[in-house]
Amino acid sequence: MSAEQLEELVRQFALRVKREQHEVEEVLGEVLQRLSALEQGQARQGGTEAAAAAPAGDDPAMPSPWSYRATEKDWRDLAGWVDWISTHYAPQLNLRIWPCWPSHGGVVEELAALHAAWRAAALADAESQSVSPDMAYWHQMWLWPTLDRIRQNYMFKSCETDHTPDRAGRPTDPTVLENRIAAAPARDKGKMST
Ligand SMILES: [Zn+2]
Repeated sequence: MSAEQLEELVRQFALRVKREQHEVEEVLGEVLQRLSALEQGQARQGGTEAAAAAPAGDDPAMPSPWSYRATEKDWRDLAGWVDWISTHYAPQLNLRIWPCWPSHGGVVEELAALHAAWRAAALADAESQSVSPDMAYWHQMWLWPTLDRIRQNYMFKSCETDHTPDRAGRPTDPTVLENRIAAAPARDKGKMST
């Protein structure tokens, strides 16, 4: 085999490797995309640590809470905003949001709602041509009452130094429920026939 032939063989080999590498990269990219979609689907169905079964079951007509539909960006935006509130407003100790808030389902929903209300108020404030009471209303109606409610109503007080996981309430007694359902009128019984 001449040096030229050898060189040509090496060149062909290199080309084939390059082509195959490209194909492998394409397949790998597709696999990663599918994996990411799968993970996002699982997260939407309650993949976070604190998530419980969806309240609406599989009924697509029922709305789902913020934490079940939030994307990675939504979570990061909310965390950034919560940290900004903690720094900028620096509430008193008895109104602080502890760092473990993403583990507390109810606290997450409260903070997401507070964030949504703040965005609406801040947007209205920024867009108003004249002075606007929206931010005053947000402070008065939503900020302080929500922080107070979070600290009063959730098992969050003990998380200042160490996170204590939520303890869920006891589930509905199935026997009592079935008895009540048996005594209930059928759904269409009371309707007038047309
Ligand atoms: Zn905690």
